[in-house]
Amino acid sequence: MVLSTFRCAKALQITLAVVKPDAVANPVILEAVHQKILENQFFIVRNKDLIWRREDSERFYAEHAGRFFYQRLVEFMSSGPMRAYILARENAIGHWRELMGPTKVFRARYTAPESIRGVYGLTDTRNTTHGSDSAESATREISYFFPDFNMKQWIEKEEPLFRA
Ligand code: ADP
Repeated sequence: MVLSTFRCAKALQITLAVVKPDAVANPVILEAVHQKILENQFFIVRNKDLIWRREDSERFYAEHAGRFFYQRLVEFMSSGPMRAYILARENAIGHWRELMGPTKVFRARYTAPESIRGVYGLTDTRNTTHGSDSAESATREISYFFPDFNMKQWIEKEEPLFRA
C-alpha cells in the first residue's frame, strides 16, 4: 500500500484500473500512465503485475463473447504482462474513466485528444487501459484481479487512514 501525503475529507471510492499489454510493453507509456494516476491524486491501494492465461481473459470478458472483436480481445489481453491497480479517490470510477477517454481510439483522438486512449491508444482493442464502469463492476473486477483483497477490511480499517 502506498500512503500519499495528501488527505481527502470525503468518502473515498475505489476502482480497478489496468494497464493493458500494449502499454506495459512500452516503458515510456507505462510510466506516463503511472504519473497520470499520481497527478490526479489517486491513492494506490494495491498494485501488481500479472500475465493472464487465455481462459482468464475469456472469463473476464465473457459478456463480449460472440462479438466480432472477442477472439482478438482475449488473445490480446493474454499476450503479455499487465499492471493492475486498485485506486482510491473521491469519484474514482468516473474520474479514471474520464482520464482514459472513449473505448474507441478514433473517437478518443477526436473527442478527447488529451485522454490516455487519445494519446496512447493503438487500435479499438489495443486501447492502453481498462477501468471499472460502476461500483458493482469495481467490486467484481477487484476480486478477479486481487482475490486476497478484503473489501470489508478496506472499508472499516484502511479507508479511514487516508482521510482527514
Ligand atoms: P471499456 O473498456 O471502455 O469499458 P467495453 O467494456 O465496451 O469498453 O469493451 C471492453 C474492451 O473490448 C475494450 O476496452 C476494447 O479493448 C475492446 N473493444 C470494445 N469494443 C471494441 C470494438 N468495437 N472493436 C475492437 N475492440 C473493442
